[in-house]
Amino acid sequence: MIIVLRQDATDEQIRHVIERIEELGFQAHLSRGTYRTIVGVIGDEEQLRAEPLSAIPGVASVIPVMPPFKLVSREAHPQETIVDVAGVPVGGGFLAMIAGPCAVESLEQMRRIAAGVREAGANILRGGAYKPRTSPYSFQGLGLEGLKILREVGDEFGLPVVTEVTDPRLVEEVDRYADMFQIGARNMQNFVLLSEVGRVDKPVLLKRGMSATVNDWLMSAEYIAAKGNSRIVLCERGVKGFDPATRNLYDVAAVAAAKRLTHLPVIVDPSHATGRPDLIPPCALAGLAVGADGVHVEVHDQPELAKSDGAQALRPHEYRELMEQMEALATLFHKQIPRARDASAS
Ligand code: PEP
Ligand code: MN
Repeated sequence: MIIVLRQDATDEQIRHVIERIEELGFQAHLSRGTYRTIVGVIGDEEQLRAEPLSAIPGVASVIPVMPPFKLVSREAHPQETIVDVAGVPVGGGFLAMIAGPCAVESLEQMRRIAAGVREAGANILRGGAYKPRTSPYSFQGLGLEGLKILREVGDEFGLPVVTEVTDPRLVEEVDRYADMFQIGARNMQNFVLLSEVGRVDKPVLLKRGMSATVNDWLMSAEYIAAKGNSRIVLCERGVKGFDPATRNLYDVAAVAAAKRLTHLPVIVDPSHATGRPDLIPPCALAGLAVGADGVHVEVHDQPELAKSDGAQALRPHEYRELMEQMEALATLFHKQIPRARDASAS
C-alpha cells in the first residue's frame, strides 16, 4: 500500500503517519520527492484495508497495490481454473455452450427445445424455474415443478442443467435438482445468497449485475469462494446503458478485462445483453473472439408464445447456424466444445 501525503503536510504530520503505521504492526518506508512525499507500507495489505488511513491528518490519498479479491485473483492462481459441470469441463480451453428457454413452461416445451439445442451442439441446458421478474404481475416461473421438469429433461437428453436460485431459502431445493446454480444479475450483490451457494459443492454461474463494475463482480465471486466454493463461472450479460437500440450495453471489453484479473472462466450472454435475436450471433462470436469461455443463449421453439423473454429468443435452427460459426471460431482459437454425454432417450 502507498500513502501519498499532502503537499503541505508538516514534518510532524509525516512523523505521525509513520508512527500510526508502525503502531498497527507494519513497516513504513518514507520517500521524499521534490513535490510529493510518499510512505510505502510493507505488510499484509488486507489487514490494513479496513483502517481509515486517509483520515490521518496530512494524508492526500491511499493507494492499494493488491487487488481486493484474493481467492479468485489470477495473481494468486495464475493457471486457468476448469470448472466441472456434471462432467462438462468449462474454462482452460473448454467452452460452455449453455442454451435453453428463459423459463421452463412445460415438460413438452423443454423436451422440444432440449432436443433442438442438443442436436445443435449445446453442452448445458438452461431454464428458469424461479424467475426474477421486474413486474410482480409477470410470469414468475413454475417453481418446484419447473425444477423437476428441467431435471427430467436434462437426464433424458444427457445435458447438465443450470437454473437460477433467487433466494437463500431455495438453495437446498435447487441443489437437489440442478447441476449448476445461476445467480442472476439482480442478485449479484445479494451477499446472503452468495454465501449460501458458497457453502455448497456445486458450480455457480455468476451473472454480472446490471450496474456492477468488474471489481464488484469479482468481489461477489470472492464471497462465494470465501465460503469454500471456488467452482464459479462468471457471465457478462450487459450493463445498463443509455441507448434503447439494445436492451443492455454489451460490455465485451469487461470480459477481456475480467479474464486478466481472475483465473475463473468468464462466459457471455448476448441474449440478455442485446435483447435482439438479430444481434445475438455477431455478439456471441465477438465474445469468443475476446476470449470468453463460453456462450449462454436463450432458445425457444415458439418465441411468440414464450412466457418470458420470447422477443430475444433464437429459434433452434438459428441456434444451430450460430453453433456452426462458433465451432469454426473455437477451432481457430484451439478451443474445444465438450460434447454432451449420451442421451438416455436416444
Ligand atoms: C435469465 O438468465 O433469464 C436472467 C433473468 O438473466 P439476468 O439475471 O442476466 O437478467
Ligand atoms: Mn431471460
